[in-house]
Amino acid sequence: MQRRDFLRGATLAGAATALPAPASSFESDTPPQPLGKIAMEEHFMVPEFLDYFAETYPNINAEIAKLAPDALMDFGERRLAAMDENRIDFVVLSLAGPGVQVEKDPALAQRRARSVNDFLAAEIQKRPTRYGGFAHLALQNPAAAADELERCVRHLGFQGALINGQTNGEYLDLDKYSVFWERVAALEAPVYLHPANPVDHPAAYSGHSELWGPVCSWAFETATHALRLVFEGVFERYPKARLILGHGGETLPFSLWRFDSRWLVCNRGGRTLPNPPSFYIRRNIAVTTSGMCSNQSLRCCLDAMGAENVMFSIDYPFEKTDLAARFLESAPLTQAERTQVASANATRILHLDRPVAKT
Ligand code: MN
Repeated sequence: MQRRDFLRGATLAGAATALPAPASSFESDTPPQPLGKIAMEEHFMVPEFLDYFAETYPNINAEIAKLAPDALMDFGERRLAAMDENRIDFVVLSLAGPGVQVEKDPALAQRRARSVNDFLAAEIQKRPTRYGGFAHLALQNPAAAADELERCVRHLGFQGALINGQTNGEYLDLDKYSVFWERVAALEAPVYLHPANPVDHPAAYSGHSELWGPVCSWAFETATHALRLVFEGVFERYPKARLILGHGGETLPFSLWRFDSRWLVCNRGGRTLPNPPSFYIRRNIAVTTSGMCSNQSLRCCLDAMGAENVMFSIDYPFEKTDLAARFLESAPLTQAERTQVASANATRILHLDRPVAKT
């Protein structure tokens, strides 16, 4: 069975499943609507990358740090059961960060990224109707990263790449990354910009470990990275390049008006753009609902970014699949919006109908 046939069938079959109990953990009077869903911030791990993953431990509590590797390394019963119970048809898998982006040896980073992509491709091959993949890339070498992205998309059937923020202190707006963005645009392969830590530890977070990570610093680090791309003109130069931001867009949708307003009066350092910042954010950035089960945040994303730019995600295994699923099924949306967020936008943006080239 082709992936696209399964996706159509699964979405329809979902309508015949029993209605789950009404959700009580978030604010909605809307009864749950059974519907097939696609999720794309869903992580995995391999033993050889646990040392890189340990860089994330200071950001999360010890219990999660202890439990996460087992869940991350399962590609079978546990992951599929959570998907089936919650009507998740298809997930795009990505390595839990930061991976080789913190590797100091560029050649080693390149070799290890390639090997983990081959590993993921083999897992996808076992269940091609349920799993897709985002490439893990060694951005230390932008041209080689572009080539690896192309290999993963054209020959391994991946949907794009997931990048964990900065790479050894360098951000993706630097001129050296033009070769990478050119390929992203040519392949129409989206880049999921995922949170990670900066190389320094700003004074604003000192003495407040709770702010260092998912509560606060990751959102602002990731939002700032995305804005660097907007203001450096990456999306002006590569109109077909597309970024995906998780967690309701990492605060950006709420601030579009202010970006446009203050861009006119700030110290631009010589930068110019023919369009206001919000033009590029709406045209080139899509957002997901990963780890953000709030009706108010979802409404803001839909209204600010356009319903065609908002997609469902969970952030497995760090967030609860059942909570995320019931949230979307119960959110006060039009049926058209719900279908767009659940699967239609993902099918279009991730090119899930794209054929895979033979190697
Ligand atoms: Mn994540």
